Amino acid sequence: MSDNDGKKTLGVRGGPRSGNVKQSFSHGRTKNVVVETKRKRIVKPKPGAAAPAASVSASSGASGNASKRPAGITEAEYERRMKALAAAKERESEEAANREAEEKAREEEKHRRRQEAEAKEREQREAEERAKAKADEEDRKKRESEEAAKKAVAAAAAAPAADAPQQQRAPKQAPRRTDRDRDDSRGRGNKGRGDDNSRRSGKLTLNQALSGGEGGRQKSMAAMKRKQERARQKAMGGVESREKVVREVQLPEVIVVSELANRMAERVGDVVKALMNNGMMVTQNEAIDADTAELIIEEFGHKVTRVSDADVEDVIDSVDDDDKDLKPRPPVITIMGHVDHGKTSLLDAIRDAKVVAGEAGGITQHIGAYQVETESGAVLSFLDTPGHAAFTSMRARGAQVTDIVVLVVAADDAVMPQTIEAINHAKAAEVPMIVAINKVDKPEANPDKVRTDLLQHEVIVEKMSGEVQDVEVSAITGQGLDELLEAIALQAEILELTANPDRAAEGAVIEAQLDVGRGPVATVLVQRGTLKQGDIFVVGEQYGRVRALINDRGDRVKEAGPSVPVEVLGLNGTPEAGDVLNVVDTEAQAREIADYREKAAKDRRAAAGSGTSLEQLLAQAKENENVAELPILVKADVQGSAEAIVQAMEKIGNEEVRVRVLHSGVGAITESDVGLAEASGAPVIGFNVRANAPARNSANQKGVEIRYYSVIYDLVDDVKAAASGLLGAEIRENFIGYAQIKEVFKVTGVGKVAGCLVTEGVARRSAGVRLLRDDVVIHEGTLKTLKRFKDEVPEVQSGQECGMAFENYDDIRADDVIEIFEREEIERNLD
Ligand code: GDP
Repeated sequence: MSDNDGKKTLGVRGGPRSGNVKQSFSHGRTKNVVVETKRKRIVKPKPGAAAPAASVSASSGASGNASKRPAGITEAEYERRMKALAAAKERESEEAANREAEEKAREEEKHRRRQEAEAKEREQREAEERAKAKADEEDRKKRESEEAAKKAVAAAAAAPAADAPQQQRAPKQAPRRTDRDRDDSRGRGNKGRGDDNSRRSGKLTLNQALSGGEGGRQKSMAAMKRKQERARQKAMGGVESREKVVREVQLPEVIVVSELANRMAERVGDVVKALMNNGMMVTQNEAIDADTAELIIEEFGHKVTRVSDADVEDVIDSVDDDDKDLKPRPPVITIMGHVDHGKTSLLDAIRDAKVVAGEAGGITQHIGAYQVETESGAVLSFLDTPGHAAFTSMRARGAQVTDIVVLVVAADDAVMPQTIEAINHAKAAEVPMIVAINKVDKPEANPDKVRTDLLQHEVIVEKMSGEVQDVEVSAITGQGLDELLEAIALQAEILELTANPDRAAEGAVIEAQLDVGRGPVATVLVQRGTLKQGDIFVVGEQYGRVRALINDRGDRVKEAGPSVPVEVLGLNGTPEAGDVLNVVDTEAQAREIADYREKAAKDRRAAAGSGTSLEQLLAQAKENENVAELPILVKADVQGSAEAIVQAMEKIGNEEVRVRVLHSGVGAITESDVGLAEASGAPVIGFNVRANAPARNSANQKGVEIRYYSVIYDLVDDVKAAASGLLGAEIRENFIGYAQIKEVFKVTGVGKVAGCLVTEGVARRSAGVRLLRDDVVIHEGTLKTLKRFKDEVPEVQSGQECGMAFENYDDIRADDVIEIFEREEIERNLD
């Protein structure tokens, strides 16, 4: 088993090993499980060998990240740049000098070859005559070319490179180009050839850089001189004709060259050239790091202001609202409590009783939240996803949406673990609570027990002279519902909840999913401002423009104000629950912020996945001592399933093995998921989602396993099986028989053979054997032979006589006892 394979596949223990499977023990999986497992395996012990080593832990290859280097300029990189700088300067001066010289040299070469060919075909004398004439001309040309070369060299003398390397280079380059030149000369004239060459070579020459997009006309000598003079002046700190405007340049961590030029108000070509002079061969569309950019900015005489990438978020309007702009808003309520105490029933009862209120149709659709109106006319917004996971995960993501918690406690039960958990969550979030004592319709209901129980957890309800409102309700009969809603309205009044509706909207994602027909859809609870159709927004790592808003009744609406939940259509991708939505001015801003966040998140994940410092690595190693980890990545269709899967995954495992969810999210499996999976040697699990084409390709390339599921139980079973693979297999030894040595014979070619009687069980040829002398094990190994009379047999039963010889062991005596055993490897499983 290759360690690498082991890291990337769910079938952690490698391929099937049917060879040794003992059929009678086998009861393989029948589900659509690709993991091939077997339950038992007979292990033939090697002579003198101890128990086979436990399977290699699949997560042992933690060193896979060793190649990562910290960003920034290393010494080698610096050296490289310095070299490139020197080379660039050299090239600059050579370029001019060489061009003409090369051309002449090529001409010569061509003529010379033609001359050779002709000489063979024609008469010697004729050829000689011709050659002589040519040679004369050649001489003249040669003199000319040398003359020109000298001139060019002189002209280039301003540039810092020495003469010697130029002259060395000229002849070196000429022959290198001749082949291509000959091809050229067949179909084309000589004109402009130099430029063609340089363009085709893919190298950015000075000439190209200077002439920008205008292609490659040959520059005149004078033009060349002028340019060099200008460059020289600039390099020397420049006698600049026009007065320089010094600009303050905002410099992010990475900047595209053209944008850098733009911010300095310099020509892009000049910036590219300046970069080239610094040894950076980049085009205007490439990005450079801040350190390099700073050099360039200073070179151009501007001032640098370093800004962080995070500053892109500055365009988000985060100004606090003026008190006078604040208007009352409905409260947002989350219902929490122990499982089966009636959270869902209560939410349904409230919605059914109140949402409709005379409206036509009144069919509500589940979008993750709904609004109701109380008898007294107060509007309340309920989050439709009960439970703590949503509440905490939202809070963890910085979205505090809930204003009031309704704690449901069943009157026929008592305060339970999740009740206490809910109390703690509400307290931690400093959200006021209202206790709904549910199921009071039941005969065994005992509301006062609930009240006294709550005292122990420092929840003192009004009936116990405390501050916390308590209402007896029944989700089934509807008893007390109005009272509960009024209690909530009262609490909201006390809280004096307000928001400014007249500003760029900000909201929190309550639910998000990839809808087959509508694309990514997010339910957003507006927290301040008003979200309008056509608004441009960024939400988490996604962005978009509001194509449509749909309220909790399924109606399209034009806008949504504070505390109103709406479905938002028009996203570029699926955000996650708890992501904050912000309206911004332009799509460019939205995209920039989303890109920045995506990158930042990726960096964070990479950092989390690789353990950046040695200390971290050590700490991890210590923590992971004897604990094997199965890392996985989970992508699901909706946030709810993603959370459910993560929870299920976290439950798998014991003190030896655990499943680590590196990342979970909603939407298609993307390249970045695959990248992360590769980095951590994890498989990617797609729950009702598929990988997009680039991700598929990337996964194929990197050997990352992608698995698709649509039933959570199947997924859990498979991961369990894989995690079980990480458990060291248990080796169990089964005693199968005893034999008593009666006599010992010497057989030529075989060695000592024991004549035995099987006294118990069976003697098996393939089994392991131990030699016992006075009940002490003096040898353990395998059999070389098992004979019944003259024949080699696989088995000899109890009560029968047989001949046995040990593999590689000869010290056997009469009265020794042979113990026969088999070992089986039992794959342990997690439950
Ligand atoms: P959740 O797990 O907290 O969401 O609880 P559910 O809403 O699923 O309710 C659990 C069970 O309790 C269901 O069988 C409900 O029918 C029942 N139930 C909920 N509220 C009441 C109630 O007020 N009275 C009675 N008798 N049963 C209730």
